[in-house]
Amino acid sequence: LFIAYGQKEKTETISQVAASLVHEVRNPLTAVKGFLKLIRESGLERDKVQRYIDICESEMERAERILSEYLAVSKPPNDRQEPVGPIDLSLQLRISLEVMRPYANMNNVGLEGQMPDEPVSILANPERIKQVFINLIKNAIEACSGVPGGHVTLELRVEQDKAVLTIEDNGIGMTKEQAGRLGSAFYSTKTGGTGLGLAFCYQTLQAMGGTIALKSAYREGTRFTIHLPLYRERD
Ligand code: ADP
Ligand code: MG
Repeated sequence: LFIAYGQKEKTETISQVAASLVHEVRNPLTAVKGFLKLIRESGLERDKVQRYIDICESEMERAERILSEYLAVSKPPNDRQEPVGPIDLSLQLRISLEVMRPYANMNNVGLEGQMPDEPVSILANPERIKQVFINLIKNAIEACSGVPGGHVTLELRVEQDKAVLTIEDNGIGMTKEQAGRLGSAFYSTKTGGTGLGLAFCYQTLQAMGGTIALKSAYREGTRFTIHLPLYRERD
């Protein structure tokens, strides 16, 4: 599993992730504790109290998000109980686009997708692959938020024995350093970000025998390219 920048292989294990999880959840807890102490002090102006409560609320929400996203990441990807069968990637992509359309509209970001009319079959759990698409589309939209003329374009095609999906945005992009850290759990440049979305994507795609690569230019945009092995009847 490679990243275009730096060609760095992701080898972070879930137990390493668990160690940082403790750290990541402890941070918001410590912050909330501190602000509660401040609130208890008498003589605080009303709007100051209000501001502290807002901070507490958003910190608690962040902790909550980290925990629920962590649950998704920590599920063993090759769980035998997990229903896996031939699924149509075109269909899952279409659904993911519809799920994310309101978010794109809300952020004033164009969102379009191109896919073949015929089914593109791969062996996977539809819920997981959809979650991968949604995470990537969400990041692309967030990268374009506030960028005039921001848009996200997805394209699914078949190349030999692979399904190839590109997710392109003309958003803020990444520096080399930022790109090199992608996929490490809890790496986020967003306020309120969890930095777990991509870690989930990388891990899930790897478990499906897929790869993900990226090209990004700071202030120009980003393109992720996913390769997944096609499923054929005779397999
Ligand atoms: P989160 O979205 O919670 O920050 P992710 O794991 O989804 O966590 O993404 C990690 C980081 O990768 C983001 O904070 C951002 O800095 C960077 N990133 C991901 N996708 C893009 C993109 N399309 N354009 C620019 N930066 C991105
Ligand atoms: Mg994200």
